[in-house]
Amino acid sequence: TPPAERYEYQAEVSRLMDLIVNSLYSNKEVFLRELISNASDALDKLRFLSVTDPGLSKDAVEYDIRIQTDKDNGIVTITDTGIGMTRQELVDCLGTIAQSGTAKFLKALKDSKDAGGDNNLIGQFGVGFYSSFLVSDRVVVSTKSPKSDKQYVWEGEANASSYTIREETDPEKLIPRGTCLTLYLKRDDKGFAHPERIQKLVKNYSQFVSFPIYTWQEKGYTKEVEVDEDPAEAKQREQDEKTEMKKKTKTVVEKYWDWELTNETQPIWLRNPKDVTKEDYNEFYKKTFNEYLDPLASSHFTTEGEVEFRSILYVPAIAPSGREDIINQKTKNIRLYVKRVFISDDFDGELFPRYLSFVKGVVDSNDLPLNVSREILQESRVVRIMRKRLVRKAFDMMLGISMSENREFWENFGKHLKLGCIEDRENHKRIAPLLRFFSSQSEEEMISLDEYVENMKPDQKDIYYIASDSVTSARSTPFLERLLQKDLEVLYLVDPIDEVAIQNLKSYKEKNFVDISKEDLDLGEKNEDREKEMKQEFGQTCDWIKKHLGDKVASVQISNRLSSSPCVLVSGKFGWSANMERLMKAQTV
Ligand code: ADP
Ligand code: MG
Repeated sequence: TPPAERYEYQAEVSRLMDLIVNSLYSNKEVFLRELISNASDALDKLRFLSVTDPGLSKDAVEYDIRIQTDKDNGIVTITDTGIGMTRQELVDCLGTIAQSGTAKFLKALKDSKDAGGDNNLIGQFGVGFYSSFLVSDRVVVSTKSPKSDKQYVWEGEANASSYTIREETDPEKLIPRGTCLTLYLKRDDKGFAHPERIQKLVKNYSQFVSFPIYTWQEKGYTKEVEVDEDPAEAKQREQDEKTEMKKKTKTVVEKYWDWELTNETQPIWLRNPKDVTKEDYNEFYKKTFNEYLDPLASSHFTTEGEVEFRSILYVPAIAPSGREDIINQKTKNIRLYVKRVFISDDFDGELFPRYLSFVKGVVDSNDLPLNVSREILQESRVVRIMRKRLVRKAFDMMLGISMSENREFWENFGKHLKLGCIEDRENHKRIAPLLRFFSSQSEEEMISLDEYVENMKPDQKDIYYIASDSVTSARSTPFLERLLQKDLEVLYLVDPIDEVAIQNLKSYKEKNFVDISKEDLDLGEKNEDREKEMKQEFGQTCDWIKKHLGDKVASVQISNRLSSSPCVLVSGKFGWSANMERLMKAQTV
């Protein structure tokens, strides 16, 4: 067989390994979580691919994870029967950083450094395969992909800048498929090779892994064994006990080793909500979505009838960082399962609208084919119904949060919801109650549209708003004068997207939104005689002004809209508002 070949790590990998070892030394046990999650991912991948290509898992091998310990020598092996890796994949996956979890970790680290540095943060992220070097001097990965007829061995050492790959030649180590990781523990970390310790950690870290995890445990059963006895003593005993000649026995415990199922494999969404605690939901969320804060809310539901599926949805505590571009981001927020098989988390609005991409969750359907593709999703009636129900549930959850006057929710996700006003006409009724704005009567605290409506004057028909770039400039616009005088509340739309959102909504509870800067604002106070009088008195002045301004204005008119300012520039009824014009200008530069 060819000799082992030596490869250099990509520069970032070496840096990452240093960082992991230096920052996580007090939280070393995370290595097990990482390696189990990789094994589980590998099993997911295989199960998914074999739906369309049954040949991939033709060996009659169960989908499982087995962890064996050798406490005398300080060795832990973790074996999965998943997708394995080819030689090239070993180089790509374990020699470079291209993978999501690790990339996220590096970014978080950079962000936290930029923000003054909080190294504790990183303990919360998925740090991946390299965390095995937290506890190991040497790591050996023997792996067999169904795409390759050979099994390969990757071998690396802590603090080294290179690793080797060779073909597996030891017949005892050959596996039908999957990956076997052997960790040679550091002297001070050999405690992780105690079977009870591993068992405890597995219970702790893998309660939501949906494949069975077995650990190698010492067990015992009791049995009766005969005791050798002096014949004279035996005789004496028989006489005393008045029994027949019989051998004396004693009870002993017979020890043996065997695999023991260590986790619960029933996915949390299949359990009865009554049996699941809030902590369970939160833990599941954090582990599944790589989050470190508890969610704001969760919702676990089953729908029956026309389409059956189960789901758990979550609203996160904070918005994903560094994602300005709400629409074009891939968020992997909804994980779709079909009959418990993980299908994909890489959908593009088919299953859940993009403007709600901050909502995370799992969906498990029995009504979709296992080989469901994006094309099928787009066409599927089942998916349309699922999407509708999911969205409805998500809004129920958000309404609950917003009723509790959770300000962070609006600060984090308000932009998404305003986008929903533009994108999702069908759900206007659900979005509108969540919206919040400043107003002429509430410049510090945002109010809801319901609060506005409650505060309306008995004869007030419309909801008034003015779009501006800040509360201060909204407050000082002359358009407000008459309304303030009449004690009419005016919403201040100060976020650039507000005005478009409101224009899309058109109305709330049958009350139209009216821009107070538009030409035809009618405050219901027509006084025709007085208007006629004014027109006679100032008609010539208007003509004179119009002549001087020429094409710069469409017309110059007498109006009753002002109380103290002499004049104001307004937009035509069908024209852009000044705010919109400013936005359009900003877009074209
Ligand atoms: P991540 O899991 O976030 O992708 P890791 O550093 O944990 O990052 O793993 C890197 C990559 O190595 C994985 O994406 C996967 O392709 C590969 N890998 C790791 N462990 C296994 C395994 N047990 N079986 C198959 N592939 C694996
Ligand atoms: Mg991983």
